Amino acid sequence: MSQQLFDQILTEIENYQTIIVHRHQRPDPDALGSQGGLVEILKASFSEKHILKAGGSVTGLEFLSQMDSVKPTDYQNALVIVTDTANSPRISGDEYALGAKLIKIDHHPNDDPYGDIVYVNTKASSCSEIIVDFYNAHQAKLTMTDEAARLLYAGIVGDTGRFLYPGTTVHTLQVAAELMHYHFSAPELNNQLNTMSHSVALLSGYVLQNIEIDELGVGRVILSQEILKDFGVEDSETAAVVSLPGSVEGVLLWCIFVEQPEGYFRCRLRSKGPVINEIAKRHHGGGHPLASGANAKDLAEVAEITNELEEAAKDWLN
Ligand code: AMP
Repeated sequence: MSQQLFDQILTEIENYQTIIVHRHQRPDPDALGSQGGLVEILKASFSEKHILKAGGSVTGLEFLSQMDSVKPTDYQNALVIVTDTANSPRISGDEYALGAKLIKIDHHPNDDPYGDIVYVNTKASSCSEIIVDFYNAHQAKLTMTDEAARLLYAGIVGDTGRFLYPGTTVHTLQVAAELMHYHFSAPELNNQLNTMSHSVALLSGYVLQNIEIDELGVGRVILSQEILKDFGVEDSETAAVVSLPGSVEGVLLWCIFVEQPEGYFRCRLRSKGPVINEIAKRHHGGGHPLASGANAKDLAEVAEITNELEEAAKDWLN
């Protein structure tokens, strides 16, 4: 099945002269790694083709990838490939729909199977791992480069929390080992991925000091606009503190509620066991069983989500 879909994807790539690769909004290392890694492989393999990276601005991860300037006219007769994006509303760059054909490549649950060809493997640790699988399925026609390997390795490190999360498999480690044969500095890349600004370091202290943990192991922290302003931290930078509550004794699942300037709360949900993406889906979100995102319109909905997390904890503990 995988091989058949990979064959179809390669055939489409061969058929089109222009290929534009998108990823999700607020890109993380896997979004940029899978997008950039695929683009590097395609550029090295098909030098005559016009291959572009599209999407909104990249803040804090500029060392990974920069977007190309893509015009609406570029989409005429173009193949569009979207990586690491579960739902079409989360695709960064609405112009993606202007292409002649659309391919989705992802590792999130396939709740929104947009695209003419859909390749989804929820067992993959990251979308970057899937791009390496695609390369391996067609090594005779595709070329891996040092830069592609660097980007794909970054994506895997990012989405596995440095090979820590349960999505990390034997295959993930094999793929990462394969990438390390290429010429890039993994320690330097890991340092870049790990480095936090002084303000995020201070916010980390706030999160650890203010986490509320109940007797079921549900942890929560609310980051108001006031707190974000006090610490001088942008919403996008809260990614760096999402995993922290998981290292506190007794925390089974947790949510960091980040208030947005418009007044609603972006909810970043994580779990060490209970499935949480069904909760996220009930609150305008989605994601993986153990790592999801949702939106709460006000503090009342924050309380509702907290209650649902408690129910999930109870079910799991029973
Ligand atoms: P985050 O907390 O933003 O790192 O998101 C964790 C996971 O949930 C990622 O895999 C996202 O793809 C997914 N996710 C976050 N927000 C949403 C959303 N609004 N809708 C669907 N999936 C989401």
